[in-house]
Amino acid sequence: MSTLSHIRPSYMGTLLNCEGSVRLSTGCTSAPSPAAERGTVLHELAHHCLLTGTEASTFVGQCRPLSEYRITEHDAEQVQAAVDYVDNLRENKALFAEHQVNFRRWVPAEVAHPTGTADIIMIGDNRLTIVDYKFGSRYVDVTDNKQLLFYALGAYDEFGLDYDFDLVEYIIVQPALDSYQHYSQTLNGLLREGEKAKEYLIKALSNPTPRYNPGTDACVYCLARHRCKAMADYTENLLKKSESEALSVDVLAQILDAAPAVKSFLDAVESEALSRVERGDKIPGYKIVESRTRRKYADDAEPALAELLGDEAYKTDLISVTEAEKKLGKKHVFFKEHVIKPQGKPTIAPETDKRPEISLTPAIDSFTDLDN
Ligand code: SF4
Repeated sequence: MSTLSHIRPSYMGTLLNCEGSVRLSTGCTSAPSPAAERGTVLHELAHHCLLTGTEASTFVGQCRPLSEYRITEHDAEQVQAAVDYVDNLRENKALFAEHQVNFRRWVPAEVAHPTGTADIIMIGDNRLTIVDYKFGSRYVDVTDNKQLLFYALGAYDEFGLDYDFDLVEYIIVQPALDSYQHYSQTLNGLLREGEKAKEYLIKALSNPTPRYNPGTDACVYCLARHRCKAMADYTENLLKKSESEALSVDVLAQILDAAPAVKSFLDAVESEALSRVERGDKIPGYKIVESRTRRKYADDAEPALAELLGDEAYKTDLISVTEAEKKLGKKHVFFKEHVIKPQGKPTIAPETDKRPEISLTPAIDSFTDLDN
């Protein structure tokens, strides 16, 4: 029997948004991406800093266990903001960090390992609180978020008998966007949603003609997107949208809405093509070549270059702002005036983005007759 073996709470948004993904995802596995590695490292670091009280800036430039990803100053700032936020909420509450939950009761038997790791579970003041850190810059809405719902269901199964709570609160902490969203529901509401989700998943698994729902909400992280015809059709239709030669602003908006899903689909198709060729398939018009690389020093280069160039072989850089603040301690207030935050370039973002809109002076059309 095929199993939905890689189903984590983070995948529930896809399954519940697109009925077709339930069957199409059976047997699919996910490959770790650089973005996923960064996320894993920052979650582990947040956990470490919360439990030990260590400042995240201590780890700038370092790797964490089992990863070669180096923590940047920007990463450390995000982790510290997330840790500080949780620290402010935890008073008088039982707290479980990086806690594995099991939500077996709320999914069909075909889900082989129905577990996931909740970043933070807090219980107190008659409420169960689920906190999820997001270290990416793609906005994630807390309202009706299925990932957090399944963490809560697993947490209820584990702690429901030992603690009293009637309310469930969900918090998404997204420091890159300065976004700290809360959403609540009653415990009965949570349990009703859990029952409904299980019923839906059981039906979807046995439905031979399920409904597909391609779009950004469902597809970006879908494990089956590399083999999904509905997604291919969706992409093709998107390209046919414009009736005139030049794209209207409405069509541009539709393409921007779909872009995350389409980019993710195209990346998945490219990876799928590579693994098929590696397995012996021929893809018409394509071959495997070595990727381009940049020159780098061999392990024994430093002494040789130092002998030839002396001090000119090295250059020194100023330490980062975060490191400077740490070294300066209280004296950093006297240095404040020497730190600036450069203005960012205009960038397009959805209306839900928390940054305020900036007004731009329209650029002069390059085809305008300047004499008029
Ligand atoms: S890629 Fe999108 S449409 Fe296709 S199965 Fe996955 S979620 Fe559904």
